[in-house]
Amino acid sequence: MSAVPRTPPVQRLPAAYSLTPHLIYPHRLYLLHVIASALALAAMVPAMWTLQVSSGHWISTLLIGLGWPHLARWRYRRSRHPNRAEMQNVLVDGVLAGMALPLIAFNLPISAALLAVTCFAAMFGGGPRLLAGNLLAFALGVLVGIPIYGLHWLPGLDGLSFLASLPLALLAPLALLHVGYDVTRGLHHRRNELELRGWHDGLSGLFNRSHWEDTVRGEFARSRRTGQPATLVLADLDHFKQINDLYGHAEGDSVIRRFADLLRTNLRDIDVPGRYGGEEFGILLPLTPLPEAMEVVRRLHRRLHEAPLSRHRTITASFGVAELSADIDSPETWIRQADLTLYRAKYDGRDRIAERSAAPAASSAIDGTPPRSPPRSPLRPALSPRDPAVLAQLLQGIDIADTPVAMYNPDDQLVMANDAYIRLHGIPPGVVRFADVIRHAHRLRQGVALDSDPETWLRDEQRQRRRAPRRLFPVTTLDGVRFQGIEVCFNDGWILTTLVAAAPTGLASPA
Ligand code: GH3
Ligand code: MG
Ligand code: MG
Repeated sequence: MSAVPRTPPVQRLPAAYSLTPHLIYPHRLYLLHVIASALALAAMVPAMWTLQVSSGHWISTLLIGLGWPHLARWRYRRSRHPNRAEMQNVLVDGVLAGMALPLIAFNLPISAALLAVTCFAAMFGGGPRLLAGNLLAFALGVLVGIPIYGLHWLPGLDGLSFLASLPLALLAPLALLHVGYDVTRGLHHRRNELELRGWHDGLSGLFNRSHWEDTVRGEFARSRRTGQPATLVLADLDHFKQINDLYGHAEGDSVIRRFADLLRTNLRDIDVPGRYGGEEFGILLPLTPLPEAMEVVRRLHRRLHEAPLSRHRTITASFGVAELSADIDSPETWIRQADLTLYRAKYDGRDRIAERSAAPAASSAIDGTPPRSPPRSPLRPALSPRDPAVLAQLLQGIDIADTPVAMYNPDDQLVMANDAYIRLHGIPPGVVRFADVIRHAHRLRQGVALDSDPETWLRDEQRQRRRAPRRLFPVTTLDGVRFQGIEVCFNDGWILTTLVAAAPTGLASPA
């Protein structure tokens, strides 16, 4: 068996720069929005005082000035298209600022400051088009404001209104420029990274695995900092090998491309899909708690049945959904949890969605088919599969403290295993078939180094077992640890698989 080559370490950027811009902007702009609104109110107060506006207008102006930035953020966060919502928010800013002009009787310094700040914000957020939109919105605001506040003309070039407008005119653009500077710096780093390695997968056009994982790392850090929810989904096309085998590799490629299109068209613009491996995809759902994520995944799952990805047959997929919870201590654990959950969906029969919960993951099919119950050993159903005491009794004479030891029945189902074996292969609860243990460990890139793909390796393994009921063979794990593997088939049909550092006397026989 040969060692599997490892991918070289990739130079990483600080997490903040791995965030996509639309995740940086609204958070920073929200603060700016609150500050700019407060400064605008402060600028208007002396003029409103001098003009002795009614208490109703005082109250409505304060409510709008203090409340609108929060409402704008709420709109952005619940929108299916947050970037579009943010652009609309900028236009509403323009209308509100325009409406303020009749209220302050077109006080010149304050009006100029309001116009300038909204123009800066529009140019910053959406370029010349949004600037033009903002000018129209501002004019519309003036027209709306006149019937509400009346048409008075007191340009008031007095010192007080000039002073009151200064903080708005100076501080708001400065704060905006500060965000712009930060974002430019971030983009500069991102361009360097782009030169370092490609971001996209050539076949699907989605983010490649390494960039997608960077995005997950960024979102993990952001979510931990802000306490906002986030959910991760891993999806794997079912029986994809058959597509290649039956209809050719080109058809397989086309299915992968169409699945990527399905993700692009059915996800929000803040969601981040990526190609995780061959026919496995990752989807990061920022700001999304589990129930909402399940709705998204159910929609994807439904679409696969409504519009088949191949003209030959319906292509199904299995999904593992894991919300970021307090017990997940790193982005790697998060991805691993989604992968374990995906494995559960596969194990329960494929074409279904499994969600991670504190208890072993539950899954459901589109037609409500219940998950398979875990297969039980037909020979000794009463034995606890993970009871080291029973195992120790059966394996007297073998030191099993750190040596991975497992026992499989003739149906290849795990009857017993010690902790070392479970750790070596990273076996999740419910996985009992030898083939599934190996496939799973292969997927996690852990356990024993295979010298071919898992299916070929498993077939070969079966052949070897039939040929030699007592086998001794060298094994290397992916961590580079070398063991002697011993497999013994008992008369009553039990298969014992042990991996020991040195061959114990009495069990070994020539391969
Ligand atoms: P399961 O339902 O358990 O996921 O079964 P499966 O057949 O989908 O899974 P398996 O991992 O055994 O097979 C995945 C296959 O995907 C094997 C590989 O040949 C194929 N594959 C990987 N990348 C590509 C690709 O870029 N294009 C094509 N056409 N096939 C690919
Ligand atoms: Mg698959
Ligand atoms: Mg796969």
